[in-house]
Amino acid sequence: MAETLMDQIFEKIVETIREPLLVLDSDLKVIVANRSLYESFKVKPEETVGQLIYDLGNKQWDIPKLRELLETILPEKTSFDNYEVEHDFATIGKRTMLLNARQIERGVGEKRVILLVIEDITERKRLEELLAESEERYRRLFETAEDGILLLEKSKLKIRHANPAIKMMLGYSEKELIGNDMKNIGIPDNIGTFQEILQTLNKDGIAHFEDVAVQNKAGKTIYTDIYMADRALLVQCNIRDITERKISEEMLRESEDKLRKILESNPDPIVVYDNMGYPQYLNSAFTKIFGWSLDELQGRLIPFVPEDQVEITQSKLKGIYESGNSVRFETKRLSKQGKILDVLISAAIIKDLHSIQNGLIVNLRDITDTKKMEAEFRQAQKMESVGRLAGGVAHDYNNALSVIMGFTQLAMNEVDPTAPLHADLEEVLKAANRAASITRQLLAFARKQIIAPIVFDLNKNAKSMLKMLQRLIGEDISLVWLPGADLWSVKMDPSQLDQILANLCVNARDAIAEVGKLTIETDMVTFDTAYCADHHGFIPGEFVMLSVSDNGCGMDKEILANIFEPFFTTKSPDKGTGLGLSTVYGIMKQNNGFINVYSEPGAGTTIKIYLPRYVGHAIGIRKESKEEIPPGFGETVLVVEDEPSILKLARRILEELDYIVLTAKNPKEAIELVEEHTGGIHLLLTDVIMPGMNGLELANRLQSLCPDLKHIFMSGYTSDAIAHHGILDEGVLFMQKPFSKEDLAKIVRKALDEQKKLS
Ligand code: ADP
Ligand code: MG
Repeated sequence: MAETLMDQIFEKIVETIREPLLVLDSDLKVIVANRSLYESFKVKPEETVGQLIYDLGNKQWDIPKLRELLETILPEKTSFDNYEVEHDFATIGKRTMLLNARQIERGVGEKRVILLVIEDITERKRLEELLAESEERYRRLFETAEDGILLLEKSKLKIRHANPAIKMMLGYSEKELIGNDMKNIGIPDNIGTFQEILQTLNKDGIAHFEDVAVQNKAGKTIYTDIYMADRALLVQCNIRDITERKISEEMLRESEDKLRKILESNPDPIVVYDNMGYPQYLNSAFTKIFGWSLDELQGRLIPFVPEDQVEITQSKLKGIYESGNSVRFETKRLSKQGKILDVLISAAIIKDLHSIQNGLIVNLRDITDTKKMEAEFRQAQKMESVGRLAGGVAHDYNNALSVIMGFTQLAMNEVDPTAPLHADLEEVLKAANRAASITRQLLAFARKQIIAPIVFDLNKNAKSMLKMLQRLIGEDISLVWLPGADLWSVKMDPSQLDQILANLCVNARDAIAEVGKLTIETDMVTFDTAYCADHHGFIPGEFVMLSVSDNGCGMDKEILANIFEPFFTTKSPDKGTGLGLSTVYGIMKQNNGFINVYSEPGAGTTIKIYLPRYVGHAIGIRKESKEEIPPGFGETVLVVEDEPSILKLARRILEELDYIVLTAKNPKEAIELVEEHTGGIHLLLTDVIMPGMNGLELANRLQSLCPDLKHIFMSGYTSDAIAHHGILDEGVLFMQKPFSKEDLAKIVRKALDEQKKLS
């Protein structure tokens, strides 16, 4: 049979159509099948054409619904579209198909033909289900989300959907929300148009707006984080209420701020260490006192702990971690300037939420000054008690020494200077002098020495001593004198300057092994309060400085700490008494000055004393003490003394000097004697402390009887009768016991020649 054009067209359609296709005859046998069918349903052509459709692929096509379609529905309806059939094929598994069938009548008497097109919708169905599921899931999320969610139109960002959370958050009803603009429901419109938002999308396709203040319907401000995302047709806008988080952050910030203020306003230095032991925070007191900033301590573990304090520090800190309790201990710390400070440490653990091990908060109270003050207080107490002891014995002791020295001198006058007895007596005198100097030192240390301060030029006085000092230190030590120019005046008892210089030079001599150098220097210095705050012991003001330095053995720290202790000495008993520097100390205290010592083992010693400047001119002129013993010219001297041996001594000395001597054992006797005495009396030499009446009272009494009477006081100990706080009243002549023949001769002469009347 020749193929017609229609036949050819038909054949090509069948061949090219994508859907599987079958043509059946009226017996439901396959006349034609296309390639898509063979491929889609994995049946072979030779098993298909001429076969009953139900038999295809080993009867896999015997599908009840297919039978229903072909045998029941089609004969009546002649066509059917989208008849859904589901079947599990052995070859290709479960498929969902849409069957489209046409029954073609070929004229009367002729048999019909059925065209069957099969659409496999398995994939599409699956996708549809998935979509439905995800939509459901999305809907549930939308409904139950804690975030408020708005779904907005892209073009004008009008609200299309709003979830319950946003209604709760903002207080608007569904009706008020839908179709509305965001800005009408309190959300600021500076977020932008969708086009602008698109520009800010991050890599996850989300635009994030932080900390947006939204007004709810009631007018309350709610702080929110807003996330906007492109959802194909709509824009999803999540609005998260962060008000509470913000409030707790704010509270945390406030409490941190409060804590910081507490730490900052604390006058004690405070360090907070992290769990690794690195400083994390320093308060400003720390930087002020220790000089270190946090940057300088960063990464360096405890750099301000002196080497000898590392062990105690570590063991104490270990103790904290082991016990969990806080600790307090005293130690030392190094400032950036290299100053060692005494500190009282209180340290406690601070819990760090972010790590397992805890940090430490350490309070370092600077107790350097307190410690020094304690030491000074102890020193003052010592001076007080030594003073009381010295004062207690000085009176009797000095009387005894006066007698020993006086009679020894008198005896020596009687003996041939070449006789051995003379040499023996000389030894007695030496020993007595030494004893006298010890009591004098003790009194000086305890500031119980009676002094007669005058205004003088320290350079002149020191210079006049140089010869004596050179003799004191010997020829092997060269003495260098470096006076400062135009020195300010000072006011003190010049004999105290002698004592200071002698003590310092003897110490320097003892420190120098063989040959060496001793330098005496003077200068003027001014200290301001800032300098004194930094230099302990210094007092603000203007001072005349006297420094004595040697290149001797120097001192270590331990010796340095003790040098002002009375009786502290490193020397053998015949060489040192341990009273030298304590005397200097006492003298300086008495004169409102201070001392500073620089010394290092092997590097020599410099001791500087600072005497307050006296504003005014020097009036005191030092007399050379090299004069002869001045004799008397028959003047009458009345000696009053309750100690008989002193009385006797005074008489002997004065008579030898050609004075006429009257004596009285007490004030009463003296008054009677003066009342009865017919000749003139020129001078009264009286003890100060006597039973019944003191020396000053006696002098005043006698003066009324005898207006021209001059007077000298003598004492082994200070008394307020003639001196205030140890300082002699102006114009008063005083002789310290024990005294030598020269002492007495000179002072008596001086009184008779120079003393003016008592006012
Ligand atoms: P002393 O000289 O009787 O021992 P001081 O009070 O004068 O008593 O001195 C106390 C101690 O201080 C001395 O023993 C000595 O150890 C030490 N010292 C004082 N001055 C010096 C100095 N210039 N060089 C070295 N050491 C000194
Ligand atoms: Mg000494």
